Amino acid sequence: MWRDGRTYDAAAAAVAGTLTDAIEVILPQPCAVCGLGRGPVCRVCRALVHRWSADPVNVAPVLPHWPSDRLCIASGAYRHEFARLILAFKNGGRLDTAPVLGRALGRGLAALLRQVEGQGTQSSGARAGQAPVIIPVPSSARAFRRRGFVPSEVLARRATAPRSALSAIQGSARSKVAPVLMARRRPTHAVLDSRVRRAVGQKGLSARERSARAASSMTIGLPGLAGVMGLRPDLGNRPCILVDDVATTGSTLRESARAVEAAGGRVVGAAVLASVRLPGENCPMFSASHPADG
Ligand SMILES: [Zn+2]
Repeated sequence: MWRDGRTYDAAAAAVAGTLTDAIEVILPQPCAVCGLGRGPVCRVCRALVHRWSADPVNVAPVLPHWPSDRLCIASGAYRHEFARLILAFKNGGRLDTAPVLGRALGRGLAALLRQVEGQGTQSSGARAGQAPVIIPVPSSARAFRRRGFVPSEVLARRATAPRSALSAIQGSARSKVAPVLMARRRPTHAVLDSRVRRAVGQKGLSARERSARAASSMTIGLPGLAGVMGLRPDLGNRPCILVDDVATTGSTLRESARAVEAAGGRVVGAAVLASVRLPGENCPMFSASHPADG
């Protein structure tokens, strides 16, 4: 099981916010989207990003590996300025854009909660006042080593911060972020296989290969000493919401849901920042250069 990376996640997420604030003061960076305007995201790009992420939509029906009857809300489309901003955050070292993206994710999470409540899912199993636990989908070990942080966790913490869209609708019984999902260490033959494929990347894999690669790749555990001692989180019938940055086929989300449910959690839906596929589009834009490697 991959543990050493997870040990630092909570600390990394906390430090990221503080560092971000410090860097903004000391080194004002240009806009992460256009590179010209004032950073972290200039006024023009902020408006464009908002245009691509203002209307959260349920993408479950178009994700081939996610059950169509289980909500998966995307804050926006993985397109244009929104995609560029997500890439800058994930792979360009622009942690200072986390507040903008966190707010976008918060809009999707709020939409998901409203729909879950509308469906009566929450009242059917959860007691009143039991806010769903928000579980970030972890990065692969390789992606974590490269970045030093887990994008979905940083964004989930931003999205659930005080005065977020989520806190406005949840009040005092606000959802908490629980980074209990862990990427399992893969067997040697799979690692060797992945080295061969590295040049191709996951986006070069077929939907079936991507699904096979995700199967049994996640487990539930606790970071740090508690995890080493073999303690496991008790999700006993708690409503859970999965959070990820980009959804491509839904296979990683499905595997995450399997692991959460194996630990007794009840997955009521998923929220992603952006989706490569959108309802009403015949041709998913796989040509978009997105990092589907975790
Ligand atoms: Zn700009």
